[in-house]
Amino acid sequence: MESSTAPTVSAGHGAGPAPVDLLRRLRARGAGDPVTHVERVPARVGVPAPWPAWAPPELRAAFARRGVVAPWQHQAEAATLAYDGGHVIVATGTASGKSLAYQLPALATLLADPRATVLYLAPTKALAADQLRAVAGLELEGVRPACYDGDTPRAEREWIRRHSRFVLTNPDMLHHGILPGHAQWSGFLRRLAYVVIDECHTYRGVFGSHVAHVLRRLRRQCARFGATPVFVLASATSGDPATAAGRLTGLPVTAVTEDASPRGGVTFALWEPPLLPPDSAAPAVPAQAAGDHDAATTDLVQVRRSALRETADLLADTVAEGVRTLAFVRSRKGAEVVAANARRALDDAVPGLGGRVAAYRGGYLREERRELERALLHGDLLGLASTNALELGVDLVGLDAVLICGYPGTRASLWQQAGRAGRSGQEALAVLVARDDPLDTYLVHHPEAIFGAPVEATVLDPANPYVLAPQLACAAVEAPLTPADLALFGDGAKEAIDQLVEAGALRQRPTGWYWRHRERPEVDLRGEGGAPVCVVESATGRLLGTVDGGSSHFLLHPGAVYLHQGISYVVDDLDLADGCALVHVEEPDWSTHARDVTDLSVVSVRSYVDAGPVGMFLGEVDVTSQVVSYQRRRIATGEVIDTRPLDLPTRELRTVAVWFTLSPRSLASAGVQQADVPGALHAAEHAAIGLLPLMATCDRWDIGGLSTALHPDTEAPTVFVYDGHPGGAGFAERAYGTASAWLRATRDAIAECGCESGCPSCVQSPKCGNGNNPLSKPDAIRVLDVVLENLPA
Ligand SMILES: [Zn+2]
Ligand SMILES: [Zn+2]
Repeated sequence: MESSTAPTVSAGHGAGPAPVDLLRRLRARGAGDPVTHVERVPARVGVPAPWPAWAPPELRAAFARRGVVAPWQHQAEAATLAYDGGHVIVATGTASGKSLAYQLPALATLLADPRATVLYLAPTKALAADQLRAVAGLELEGVRPACYDGDTPRAEREWIRRHSRFVLTNPDMLHHGILPGHAQWSGFLRRLAYVVIDECHTYRGVFGSHVAHVLRRLRRQCARFGATPVFVLASATSGDPATAAGRLTGLPVTAVTEDASPRGGVTFALWEPPLLPPDSAAPAVPAQAAGDHDAATTDLVQVRRSALRETADLLADTVAEGVRTLAFVRSRKGAEVVAANARRALDDAVPGLGGRVAAYRGGYLREERRELERALLHGDLLGLASTNALELGVDLVGLDAVLICGYPGTRASLWQQAGRAGRSGQEALAVLVARDDPLDTYLVHHPEAIFGAPVEATVLDPANPYVLAPQLACAAVEAPLTPADLALFGDGAKEAIDQLVEAGALRQRPTGWYWRHRERPEVDLRGEGGAPVCVVESATGRLLGTVDGGSSHFLLHPGAVYLHQGISYVVDDLDLADGCALVHVEEPDWSTHARDVTDLSVVSVRSYVDAGPVGMFLGEVDVTSQVVSYQRRRIATGEVIDTRPLDLPTRELRTVAVWFTLSPRSLASAGVQQADVPGALHAAEHAAIGLLPLMATCDRWDIGGLSTALHPDTEAPTVFVYDGHPGGAGFAERAYGTASAWLRATRDAIAECGCESGCPSCVQSPKCGNGNNPLSKPDAIRVLDVVLENLPA
C-alpha cells in the first residue's frame, strides 16, 4: 500500500498562491521531479467589435444589463453570417461566449418578425436548462422561451407548442417526441427561422451519425411546411469544424474559429507519477483502470504510482492551499476514489477539512449535481472530482486549478477541460497527470503532440447502415419517403430502403415508400448503450443513479461492488429485462473486476492494400463477447481472492474493423521466433489500440482488438482493431486511412518506453481479456517494422 503525503494546510482559504509557486510546491512534495514539461499558455487580450448595425437597440440594452457591453470579434462575425442567412459553426474555446453568436441573430429575428420561431438543441437537459435561464434572463417581450424535454409536465406541453417562440430541447426529444408529433408542431415548424445546435462536437461516432439523420428528418418536415431554417452550430475547438458540421447537418457550413475573447494565462504542467521502488511496487489500485467499459484488468505489478493516487494527493494539496480545484477523472469509479482519498488525506491533516471535497458525475440526480456546482461556485466546496465536462454547468469556469487525471482521449477535450481554469485577468494552473498507458506516456514525453498539434476532427459516419436504415424507417413513419428524399439522406439511402422493403418494413407505392406497421420503430440514438440501468437500493427503494446499458454488465453484475458518492454498495441482482439493479449498502474489503471473452469473424472486405508480405484491410466483422466472470481483489494489497463465474447473455456486434496480416516468412526473417508470434501480435495490438486516439476522436474504450497467430478467415498472423459500436463509428475507417502514421506512432511509443519487457505505458492493456498474456515487447517492434517497411506511406 502506498502512503499518502499529508498535505500542509495554509492559513487562509481566500485567494490561493500564484500558479507558478503552487506548482513549485506540488513538485517538491516527493522524491524526484514528476513534471516532464511546463507550457506557458499566454494570456490573450480580447478584441471587441461594434454591435452589428442590424442588432436592435432593445436587444443590445438587454445584453448590456447582463454585462455585455460589446460582442467580441468572433461573436459579431458568426452572428452576422447567420443573420444574413448562412449556416455557420463557431468553434472556439471554453467560455469564449459562443452563446452570444447564436443568441444575437436568433433573438434579433424573433424581435423583428413576431411570428418567427427558434429551436435550440443541447446534448443534455442540464445544458438546455442553463441556456433557458440565460435567454429568459434577457426578459425580451414575446419570446417566451421554454424547455421541452422529458421533464416537462404534460400540462405545459401544449402551451409551449402553441406559444413559445424559443424552444430548448435535446436530440432525443426531437427524435422521440417532436418529429413523430410533427402535426402538433406544424405551426412552430412552419415559422422556424433558426436551429441552434450547441456543443455539437459531442455528436460524434454512432450517436453523432444518428443525430445527423434526426436533423435531416427535421429539415424534411420543415421543407414540407415551407420553412428553410438557418443552422447555427457551436462547438468546442475542433479540427476542420466546417466539414464536421457539414456532415452533421448535410448543409454547407462556414466556420468561425478565431477566438477573440480575453483569457488569463495558464501554466500547464505535464506530470508523470514517479516509479515505485521495486520492492514496494503494489498491484494496481482497484479502480485504477479507467473507463466505464473497464472489464478485465491486469494482474500486473504496477511500475508507477497510480494516476488516481497522484491526483487525489494533488487535489488534497491544492485544497489545503485554499485553491478552488476541479479534478477530471475518466471513470465514474475513479472520480469517487479520488474524492474519497483526498477527503481522507485532508481529514488526517485537519479534521473536518475533508468535507470541502466532493465527487460529481453523470448518473447523480439533477438536484445533487446543481447543489455541488453551487457549493463550488460559492466556495463552500474547494475541490470537486468530476467525470466529464459536459455534465458540468456552463457557469462552472474560472477555477484556480484544474487537474486532469489521465489524457481525456482527445486534444479537443483536454483543452476544454483545461479551459475551466482561469478567472479573467488571473493566472491559473492546469496539470495533466499521466496514467500508465501508452498514449499518456507518449504524450507527456512528446509535448509537441499536445501543444504543437491541431485538435482532432470530429468523426461521424451518417452512411453507417445500422444508423441509416432505422432512421429511414423513422422518417417513413413521419411521411412516406419519396425519391426526392434520397439525396437528403445521402450515400446508401437507396440500398437501405430496398432492404427495408425486403424485410417487410416498407411498402413501395407509386407515391413513395410507406411504413407498414402500426407501431413506430424503436430506435435509440445513443447506440448500443441501450436504455440506462437504474441502480436501486433494495431496502428503501431509493433510486441512487443510473449506469448506461453498455456498461451495466461490467459494473452491475451480481456481486459487483458499486460506489456512489463514496458510499460502497454490493449488487444483489441485475434484472436486464427491467433495466434495474438492486443493491445494498456494504463495504467489503475487496473490489470487483469483470472479465469478458471475445470471438471475431470476417464478414466482408471493403478495401485493402496488398503490400507484399503485409496486407492492410478494412471491412465488416462479427464480434461476439460475453462477460463471463469477475475477480475479487483485496483493496489494500490487490491480491486476487477468487474468480467467480457469471451467467450473463452474450452480446453480438456487427461492426467495422481494420486489420493487418503478415506472412509467417516475413516474421521469421525479422527474427520473431514462431513461439513468440502470439505475444508479438498481442503486444502490437494493445499498443495500436492505445495510440489510435491520436488519429480520431475516440478513446481506447470505443475500440476493441483481437490478435492471433493464425486466423481462420485470413489464414495468416493477424491483428484486428474494431469499432466497439454496431455498424462502426468511423474510427476503424480513420485508422485504415492513416495506417502508416498510426502504426509509426505505435512503434515509437513501444520503442521509446524505458521499461524492460513491457509495462502498462507501452504494451500492457488495462482492458485485456487475457490478463496481458502472452506479450512480447521486442517482437512487437519487429512486427511493426515489417509492416512499416512494406506499407506505402
Ligand atoms: Zn513499457
Ligand atoms: Zn489483450
